[in-house]
Amino acid sequence: MGITSANCDFLVVGMGIAGLRAAHAFSRERPEGKIIIADLGGGASSEVMGFCAPMGGDDSPEIFIADTMRAGAQENCRELVEQLCNSAADAVNDLESLGVRFDKKADGTYDMLRPLGATRNRVVHCKTTTGKAAMAIYRKILSANENVEFRTSRIVKLFKKENRICGALGFERGKPVLYNTPRVALCCGGAAGLYGFSTWTKVLQGSAYAMASDAGAELIGMNRVQFEPCVAVFPAEIYNFPIITTMLFEGAKLIDARGKSLLENSQGKPNKRELAEIIARAAANGGDCGHGGVWFDFSGVEESLFKGKYPEYYKKLRPLVSDYSNFKVEVKPAAHTTLGGVKIDTCARTNIGGLFAAGEAAGGIHGRDRIGGNAGLEIFVFGKIAGESAARYDASSCDASNEANMFVKSLKTGGKDRSDTLKKIGEILDSHAGLPRTKSGVKEGLDRINILKNSLLENPPSGLEQICSLQNALRAAELLLTI
Ligand SMILES: Cc1cc2nc3c(=O)[nH]c(=O)nc-3n(C[C@H](O)[C@H](O)[C@H](O)COP(=O)(O)OP(=O)(O)OC[C@H]3O[C@@H](n4cnc5c(N)ncnc54)[C@H](O)[C@@H]3O)c2cc1C
Repeated sequence: MGITSANCDFLVVGMGIAGLRAAHAFSRERPEGKIIIADLGGGASSEVMGFCAPMGGDDSPEIFIADTMRAGAQENCRELVEQLCNSAADAVNDLESLGVRFDKKADGTYDMLRPLGATRNRVVHCKTTTGKAAMAIYRKILSANENVEFRTSRIVKLFKKENRICGALGFERGKPVLYNTPRVALCCGGAAGLYGFSTWTKVLQGSAYAMASDAGAELIGMNRVQFEPCVAVFPAEIYNFPIITTMLFEGAKLIDARGKSLLENSQGKPNKRELAEIIARAAANGGDCGHGGVWFDFSGVEESLFKGKYPEYYKKLRPLVSDYSNFKVEVKPAAHTTLGGVKIDTCARTNIGGLFAAGEAAGGIHGRDRIGGNAGLEIFVFGKIAGESAARYDASSCDASNEANMFVKSLKTGGKDRSDTLKKIGEILDSHAGLPRTKSGVKEGLDRINILKNSLLENPPSGLEQICSLQNALRAAELLLTI
């Protein structure tokens, strides 16, 4: 199959906020530079309700750094955390200068929420749609720039010469396209969509991790995945619906199949990670209420409080039962965000010349766990840094035709229907890279992935794009299966 080609100075993979911010920053530093933004649609950035910034009088970057390091069990990369927290106020100012109006109180100060794990109210927000508001602004600015091209393309492979990027291969409507470029920013999100039970769609398949590792980039913290603790599995009408955990501190209870209340003896408020672990452990140790989870029992919440404080939840959940005293749904943790990823320095550079990463594609900032609102901040701060660093990276134009031709020729096509492969990967990750994660479980998961890899090689599908994307999904799953 013939490969068409396109040349650019900067290829941005992914059009979430990290990617848009990278493209915007690059265009400011290098207005004459040609940018291509490749995307598949449906990233998580549109869901960002708000993000952390120490804008309160009782807060400071130092307190913010301490909170972030504590949440990550001091396993975070400290320099990245300092960069993140010290740049937060600038991220707010940048957005305000472009017209984003954050919610404020009557006295003019920011209306901020306190995420689990934070010692201060710190999440600034523009109603509940901060991500959508920011994306609309950056898209509008970039669309007006004749040096920026948006393409619907699945990027599957990076090419390099002497440890410097020289191009990338993508598929547009099933046809291979070579992007000759000396600079690539991986901003294509996380891998939660690879799990069978997740808060996000199948579009986020960890392709950044697979492509980076295949090109020889270092990764970090791939065993760190954040799980949303209470996501409904029963009844079927609300399957996959996340239940707000603050209700557990307003009278709601978590009850296992034996009737045991799970939070009775917990000291203080567990954070998201602890809560998810408590639920997963109870279900795995004989407390499974039928669908792999435990009961979230609302009956202890005063009905008037429920209705008044959580109207959207009340409207959705109350019709499920006739008797309020028996008001419960079964919940279990769902894969939410990947905390590890491509290893970057404070300039969003990887160990490969011309390769940058930002947002959920990058790792090292959050350590063992992340404070809610820090992913939202990371995409603005490190997206901008990735774009600026790419603009300052010295490189001439390049041509990766030979590498691309050789790669495409090496792919073996067949005619097998492999549409069930992603489902199988999801089952494997749910069973072996979920909670709790054990050494033997991870090994079994890797063995099962290996079987799938061999089967894909022996019986490939007919489409080149499907082969490449499944190979990357299997590679990403393998990377997530680490203890
Ligand atoms: C339901 C939900 C709510 C959330 N709420 C918050 C919140 O309020 N605050 C907060 O801090 N965090 C929140 N998060 C986390 C946060 O949304 C994400 O971590 C963040 O948006 C990731 O942004 P990103 O730019 O890195 O990637 P994304 O926004 O996920 O964008 C990635 C893009 O890459 C594209 N892509 C993927 N693979 C390829 C490929 N191979 N080729 C080309 N394109 C590709 C996809 O199409 C996608 O558009 C939430 C997450 C979820 C799931």
